[in-house]
Amino acid sequence: MSPRAVRQEPSMLDHRKLGRELDIFHSDPLSGAGLPIWLPAGAAARHAVEEFLRSLEVRNGYQHVYSPPLGRAELFELSGHLGYFADDMFPPMKLSSDDELMLRPALCPHHCLVYLARGRSYRELPLRIAEIGGMYRSERSGVLGGLSRVRAIHLNDAHIFCSLADVGAEVASVLRLVDVAHAALGVRVSSVRLSLRGPGEKYVGSEESWAQAESLLRAALGSRSYVEAPGEAAFYGPKIDIQVRDVRGREWSLSTVQLDFDKPARFDLSYVDAGGARARPVMVHRSLVGSMERLFGYLIEEHGGAFPAWYAPLQLRVLPVSAASAGAAAAFAASAVEAGLRADVVAEGGSLGARVRDAAAAKVPYVAVIGDREAAAGAVALRVRGGRELPAMPMPDAIRLIDEAVAARSIDPVP
Ligand SMILES: [Zn+2]
Repeated sequence: MSPRAVRQEPSMLDHRKLGRELDIFHSDPLSGAGLPIWLPAGAAARHAVEEFLRSLEVRNGYQHVYSPPLGRAELFELSGHLGYFADDMFPPMKLSSDDELMLRPALCPHHCLVYLARGRSYRELPLRIAEIGGMYRSERSGVLGGLSRVRAIHLNDAHIFCSLADVGAEVASVLRLVDVAHAALGVRVSSVRLSLRGPGEKYVGSEESWAQAESLLRAALGSRSYVEAPGEAAFYGPKIDIQVRDVRGREWSLSTVQLDFDKPARFDLSYVDAGGARARPVMVHRSLVGSMERLFGYLIEEHGGAFPAWYAPLQLRVLPVSAASAGAAAAFAASAVEAGLRADVVAEGGSLGARVRDAAAAKVPYVAVIGDREAAAGAVALRVRGGRELPAMPMPDAIRLIDEAVAARSIDPVP
């Protein structure tokens, strides 16, 4: 197992410090506070995670879209964001007296436009529209830091348009996907919260719809342990939050499923039901793992920078013992890259011991050492992150071993 966060000092695990040491992201005052730049190592890890999420979603009936990170002010008036959320939005960009563009604070308005792009029939529902898309929040500069509070956010988002009767099955399916994503990424859930209506608040949607929605969410939670939070629901619908704890002990929502009775009415969404009548869908906002920024802030700390091999920026480092084995080392790394792995060779830069220590500091999950004997035999001795050394094996077997751990999305480099 990789060293877990709890065994080390929180300050050693601060994702800002590790993010800098491991070249994951960069914050530059010239670019602006809360606008991190993902460096090649961070981008490689994020790319692997995004590909995994998209593939998981496609295999579960989601359709992905691309929509722009900004839109006309009228769009956000219609969605209600300007009414309820203007303080968190950047000021408009005035193009002319009747044309203002705004950076979006959420993806829902564009996904409602995807729904409205053509007429919808009950046969198309549930319609699951997904995107890992950009959105922007005008956070005060004093609260910004690293990846956990940013102004440019890339959310693993989706909106499910369905009938109220379908909500139970849809939410249960979302919770299953949340479990799959958490297991692969190595996320530890600290608590689950069901936010419900409270007395004295105003809510959109009928009494019967709320009662049905709340009981469907309870049913979808099944035997999971969770706490109910009366009065914590948004005015537009109840929600489930799946929370994690960071190294400083603070708890926050990583994954969320939220019902919405408001936006379908605001955008006048409808479909033709089985009897030929017009019906209004319910909208479910859901995120399996939240934003890429907060997710990686958490994962860097949770794993102490030692990501599971499948999303480690560099999966394999090849070290020739001497100049004589450099050719065999380069050929082995090339065949690993050809097999789809992220691999490099370090032939220079000190003794073998120093290069092994550098690879350990970079948290590379597999280090292949190739000496004259291995080069002559077409073999390789693998060292696994954490100190384990495997007996020398033929080069193709080493690639297969790594490939299998990556394909299985195993947390442990040698399952
Ligand atoms: Zn949404």
